[in-house]
Amino acid sequence: MRFSFEPLTLKTRHVFAISRGASDTFGGALVRLEHWGLEGVGEAAPSPYYGESQATVMAALEALKAEIPDDPFLVDELHERMERRMRNNPAAKAAIDMAVHDLIGKKLGVPLHTLFGFSAECSPRTSFTIGIDEVRVMMQKVAEAAEYPVLKVKVGTDRDEQVMDAIRSVTDKTLRVDANCAWTPREAVRKIAMLEKFNVEFVEQPIPPGDVPGMKFVKEHVSVPIIADESVETSADIPPLAGAVDGINIKLMKCGGLREAVKMIHVARALGMKVMLGCMVESSVGITAAAQISPAVEYADLDGNLLLADDPFAGVLVKEGRIVLPTEPGLGVRSRR
Ligand code: MG
Repeated sequence: MRFSFEPLTLKTRHVFAISRGASDTFGGALVRLEHWGLEGVGEAAPSPYYGESQATVMAALEALKAEIPDDPFLVDELHERMERRMRNNPAAKAAIDMAVHDLIGKKLGVPLHTLFGFSAECSPRTSFTIGIDEVRVMMQKVAEAAEYPVLKVKVGTDRDEQVMDAIRSVTDKTLRVDANCAWTPREAVRKIAMLEKFNVEFVEQPIPPGDVPGMKFVKEHVSVPIIADESVETSADIPPLAGAVDGINIKLMKCGGLREAVKMIHVARALGMKVMLGCMVESSVGITAAAQISPAVEYADLDGNLLLADDPFAGVLVKEGRIVLPTEPGLGVRSRR
């Protein structure tokens, strides 16, 4: 297989802020694998929170080059070799995993959701994320999100109640909330009790990861479902959270690609948990890859490409809030440039 990669830098329309930081520039990488006269593409959208950056991704891809088997069908061997070579760097691994799946789908002439055994008709609605900002700007973002029936509101400031009150006063849409680790367990219980009056569908990651008893304490003292995001990177993180959360948020950039993501869906199901599929700020390459397995989950939050000023790729579409999967073989993405 011929392997190449290049930096991919994305800009968002608005500065994107969550409880721990803000940016409008997101540096990642684009991977290409060529074989059988076909090309597979994949994207790495690294998150500094998980220890990755554009520089670490470029270095990891250079090192992982030697671990790519000649036969694209040997996905298991690919992942074993990548894991042996380096423990972390999930975004870099995800890019290679995506590209190899794209190639396999193209070779077999089937879209990836078909390859994985999922029906495109079962794809969920996706939420549109409203990042933290002045209340006035957040309301403007809500207005811009008119076509999306589900909003995910980033919280974790002292204006949370004011923000939720303002948003609820203009819409009866489904509202989800993401605190990105902003609270202590006791604070979380107080905050979530306040949020309950706004009819919130669920709360994502109220407290920092690593505190399973704290998460269980929150879950036992509120009636809104709790979804773990930062607490869960790979399938190994799921069993310890059984009984402490209602569900998990899977992201390709945390777990290292589609193969591990599907495994995580099965592990979560076996433990009676709900599954959400999330993303980073990504182009349509990464978002379409995640969307291909979205028919298997309850909640999708695949809006990373919708936040971009200029998405270099086209792939998955969102129609009336629902994910519409491409019908082309493989990932089903094409370059806009
Ligand atoms: Mg989250």
